[in-house]
Amino acid sequence: MLDTNKNQQLIERLQIDLLKWFEKSKRDLPFRRTRDPYYIWISEIMAQQTQIDTLIPYYNRFIQNFPTVFCLAQASEDAVIKAWEGLGYYSRARNLHQAARIIVSEHQGSMPSSFAELIKLPGIGPYTGGAIASIAFNEKVSAVDGNVLRVISRYCNSFDDIGDAKTKKSITRWIETILPEAAGDFNEALMELGAMICTPKNAKCPFCPIRSGCQSDAAGTTGLIPVKKKKTKQLTKKMEVGIITQNGELFFVRRPDSGLLSGMWSFPITETTVSSGQDIKIKLAENFCELSQPVFIGTSRHVFSHIIWDMSIYGFKLDNLVCETATTPYLVSDQDDSRSDCQFKALSQVDDLALPVAFSKLLGLLTDF
Ligand code: SF4
Repeated sequence: MLDTNKNQQLIERLQIDLLKWFEKSKRDLPFRRTRDPYYIWISEIMAQQTQIDTLIPYYNRFIQNFPTVFCLAQASEDAVIKAWEGLGYYSRARNLHQAARIIVSEHQGSMPSSFAELIKLPGIGPYTGGAIASIAFNEKVSAVDGNVLRVISRYCNSFDDIGDAKTKKSITRWIETILPEAAGDFNEALMELGAMICTPKNAKCPFCPIRSGCQSDAAGTTGLIPVKKKKTKQLTKKMEVGIITQNGELFFVRRPDSGLLSGMWSFPITETTVSSGQDIKIKLAENFCELSQPVFIGTSRHVFSHIIWDMSIYGFKLDNLVCETATTPYLVSDQDDSRSDCQFKALSQVDDLALPVAFSKLLGLLTDF
């Protein structure tokens, strides 16, 4: 990293040029029209795995549904997950909900105003804590995301692996030594520069406000930075999905409270080695009598961040609802229990369920239904 003591003038130039550019060129985003920590929090959580342009309609809808932290805290988990639908990584929504309840019960509905307190809340790590603390409360802390790692690595001509926690730590510390009074604006400006000018490919250096001090531009190494060593390959799993129909309705189960897509609705699904419909039939037979033979419907692939599901989808017709001798029946209940673990739903009502994309896209295969 650049020695900030020996490069005082360069750093001052960087601060002035970057802030000036940001003031003039920043995108007009709904969450930039406010310093309300609640709105900044929601937008930062959404931005973690979603492009800014994509998230705007989701952000607007979420804020409309839950305009205050009190509304979010009072909502049911299903309603929050439903409002998050389409954004993926649903643990973010679950954490938001839990954190909102803590803010209401332990902080009288006021967002904690320091980085140290913010990162105690579920789902708020150093990046989000830094973003909220600096943007909403102007605390002098950094907020280092992928854009910032790239900009600073290039600016300092650093070939350190940005996937390495040590690199992230040293960039975080370096930024904290150069943060100006307007820490929130400076953090946002770095992120904006990474998103708009210092892009992963084809950086627009001729338009860059900090080009005069950029070490990789001077060295001609911009295309080689940032260095990111390849992670281990995603694991591919063969899965069988069972679509059970009865009286024109589809059968859904709730996924366990921890793990992939936790707490969301899905079709019954199981891992298999050879797709023939038999593994999912065996799993379902623990719970249902009188299942028809599996009918192959089609295949679908869903790519998560660390795992890929190659799914074969099989249809079953059901005559009797639950096998009386079933050992581990899905908890079919006629009580009105909002945490019931399974349910039949007409296709026209499936929109009411928080059904992740991995499963909602299978509905398109059910042409004969
Ligand atoms: S000059 Fe180019 S490489 Fe350097 S910070 Fe600007 S856009 Fe990035």
